Amino acid sequence: MTTNFAEGVPTTQLRDGESVLGRAGDEDVLLVRTGGQFFAVGAHCTHYKGALAEGIVVGQTVRCPLHHACFDLRNGDAIRAPALDSIDCWRVEQKGDKIFVREKLSSPQATSPSSTRNTRTPESIVIVGGGAAGLAAADMLRRQSYSGPITMISADDSAPPDRPNLSKDYLSGEAQEDWIPLRPPEYYTEHKIELLLKTHVDAIDVAGHQVVLNNGQRRSFGALLIATGATPVRPPIPGAESSPAHYLRSFSDSRAIIEAASAAKHAVVIGASFIGLEVAASLRTRNLDVDVVAPEHRPLEKILGAELGKVIQQLHETHGVKFHLGETVTRIDDARVTLSGGGVLDADLVVIGVGVRPSIALAEKAGLTMDRGIAVDEHLETSAPGIFAAGDIARWHDRRSGERRRVEHWVVAERQGQVAARNMLGAREPFDAIPFFWSQHYDMTIRYIGYAESWDTVAVDGALEKRDGRVNYMRDGRRLAVATIGRDRENLQAELEMESAHL
Ligand SMILES: Cc1cc2nc3c(=O)[nH]c(=O)nc-3n(C[C@H](O)[C@H](O)[C@H](O)COP(=O)(O)OP(=O)(O)OC[C@H]3O[C@@H](n4cnc5c(N)ncnc54)[C@H](O)[C@@H]3O)c2cc1C
Repeated sequence: MTTNFAEGVPTTQLRDGESVLGRAGDEDVLLVRTGGQFFAVGAHCTHYKGALAEGIVVGQTVRCPLHHACFDLRNGDAIRAPALDSIDCWRVEQKGDKIFVREKLSSPQATSPSSTRNTRTPESIVIVGGGAAGLAAADMLRRQSYSGPITMISADDSAPPDRPNLSKDYLSGEAQEDWIPLRPPEYYTEHKIELLLKTHVDAIDVAGHQVVLNNGQRRSFGALLIATGATPVRPPIPGAESSPAHYLRSFSDSRAIIEAASAAKHAVVIGASFIGLEVAASLRTRNLDVDVVAPEHRPLEKILGAELGKVIQQLHETHGVKFHLGETVTRIDDARVTLSGGGVLDADLVVIGVGVRPSIALAEKAGLTMDRGIAVDEHLETSAPGIFAAGDIARWHDRRSGERRRVEHWVVAERQGQVAARNMLGAREPFDAIPFFWSQHYDMTIRYIGYAESWDTVAVDGALEKRDGRVNYMRDGRRLAVATIGRDRENLQAELEMESAHL
């Protein structure tokens, strides 16, 4: 039964850290009790409408169970990506032993925690890259009231997209075209963010504080963010260039696959990577026959372990995907693919998803310190003062573990963009977020929190095949990472435990 907040809620109904879902007027509202105070906020995450009632309350914040966005309960501020927009807030009134949710507060005072600590104002800021980290950085700069010029330069032909969706609901036909841009076109004008598309930055003049564009123009910067992401690996398979095989990184790549799929019957996906398998799932949803060819013996085993790899493989097989594991592709012809074992598969559509390489050529050429990525300190600053790097390219110094890390996760890229933005304004804030990613196959989503390049023990709890389980990745008795299926709140809880275990 939904609580009607107009009738009031007994204070005894909520213990500290608990929330109750209800209605205020015609809107879903979450009433939260924390630290002896009551807060009423919008019940849905502004990223993918996740139910905040199913998330967790941490201090004066609430975290979304879907992709771990975090909101400030005091003002609705979206303090951690992937949500970029705040949630609404309502006035709360206590009368006797009841709590009432009154009118919606007209405009929540969204103030990010570090806004009072901005100590630097670069004359101008240039962002190279129109992806997760680039957009989140530009957005945060404006939220931090930075009023100088911001130029975002992107080699893509479309504005920053919701890239994870390109292999999932958009590719399967379940998401509409207008879901994909992270921000509508007017956002860039309204926020005075100059967005240069189809423009490649060819060089960075570190000493001269300029970037050199492929059209010969130069742009000066007071501070620079490099957020050039990654590029799909193109294996040297004979015929791959002439056939042509598809790769998936950009909005236009996804559109091209959809167009090819509309005339195809039989697809071959080369690579059982996350992207390869998500593409396989989406193409099955479009009713194409799908074969997946990959050299490993169990999909995703190296990243998720054999147990979860098996569950994912079985799920795809149940949906009709045929795996050719332990094999590679030796040739791609017009409408067929030849395998290393001699087999031949029909293929009027070929998608290659065998991993990505960080796009670091620009930074290398500029003489920045490299470390299998761009080396950045805990503040995401490169070896050149005033030049920051974030996202797939950045190998950062992680204070919790003392290790240097680089990951290819959406939420990490966005959060790094946000931290880099605040640091460009002098905040000196370390990047401390525990890495989180998710992957979706048909109607099953895997959520993963932590960082485990290798482990000595995998402990499974529950029944993964029944979509109700957790995998703990351990080394020397220490939990490094947790993957969950159907246990979103546990994943959030694991994030919280990892946060408090170190520092
Ligand atoms: C199809 C797909 C699905 C994914 N799904 C998930 C998922 O479910 N969960 C998850 O956690 N992660 C997922 N990822 C990974 C995630 O999208 C990336 O980790 C994230 O986009 C990295 O952000 P970024 O800002 O570093 O790079 P990107 O978002 O790739 O942006 C890089 C930008 O830099 C531009 N650029 C590069 N070089 C230059 C240059 N020299 N000059 C100008 N511009 C340049 C590019 O054009 C692009 O605009 C997925 C990735 C893809 C491709």
